[in-house]
Amino acid sequence: MKFSPKCPKIRYNTIMSAKNTTEQKKHPAGKLIVLLYYKFVQIPDPSYEVFLHKKVCESIGLKGRILIAEEGINGTVCGTRRQVEEYKRFCNGHSLFGGIVFKESRAIEQPFPKMIIKERPEIVTLRHKVDLKNTGKYVKPEELHDMLERGEDVMMIDMRNNYEYKVGRFENAIQPDTDKFYELPEKVKEMKDLKDKKIVTYCTGGIRCEKASALLVEEGFADVGQLEGGIVKYLEKYPDGHFIGKNFVFDARMTTNGDTESGKQVLAKCEHCGKPCDQYRDCTKPDCHQLFIGCEDCVKKYDGLCPVAVKDLEKMAR
Ligand SMILES: [Zn+2]
Ligand SMILES: [Zn+2]
Repeated sequence: MKFSPKCPKIRYNTIMSAKNTTEQKKHPAGKLIVLLYYKFVQIPDPSYEVFLHKKVCESIGLKGRILIAEEGINGTVCGTRRQVEEYKRFCNGHSLFGGIVFKESRAIEQPFPKMIIKERPEIVTLRHKVDLKNTGKYVKPEELHDMLERGEDVMMIDMRNNYEYKVGRFENAIQPDTDKFYELPEKVKEMKDLKDKKIVTYCTGGIRCEKASALLVEEGFADVGQLEGGIVKYLEKYPDGHFIGKNFVFDARMTTNGDTESGKQVLAKCEHCGKPCDQYRDCTKPDCHQLFIGCEDCVKKYDGLCPVAVKDLEKMAR
């Protein structure tokens, strides 16, 4: 499916420097642990839980981003092994947050500038009510891997956004051409020809598939599965499996899995010159900050500006 030329506006205070990339190659594992997790659970007083979480995370010294809503909790936090284990103990001892499945990846340096904990109307924004009792059935990473190894006729649908799919995805997966998750209810209407197919949806850590797979079921798709734990859980088991390219993440690392054979495959192109490239950059124009894919040469040539900013400059010069 086609890509939209728009890239998302995500601002980071700390985009990984060239130096860090070299260090990443020397120590692909990294010493910090990034936890990705969610739980759909009825939370009677989200603002109290935000208050409590702020206290706890501050005392542990974690950084990251946590959203709490009446429908549950969704977070990414990073710290040392000791810190993340302390956080897990807090969650497990909490009457609402027990039994969370934590997915792990590594980081060389702290990829979050601070700890942000917010109350939101939804923990993942679909802006469309779905019944979470009717989600697609869970497909474990092992089951999916076996299906793909056998070459089973299964249609994989990537429920992430364009810019994520662009740099890494399951082989032969399709993507509904969304820049934002809440565009999905409209896009699903264009996918009617897939209604009788065997479908497995996936996303980064599984949270978007809870709502997306429920939406497909609601729209009358016959056989809907969702990858349990998402790409991160699959990569924990099969770093060199059927997920090719880089796994986009919403922190300063930008992507993970770049050090495996599958991860080294470059699926995208420099948005300036068209050379194979999958390095995301934050446009250096202060009022722009668009995320774009740019090769080393073009970043030097255009001072780190995105193609839109370069065109604007050219127009002004004329
Ligand atoms: Zn280029
Ligand atoms: Zn720009």
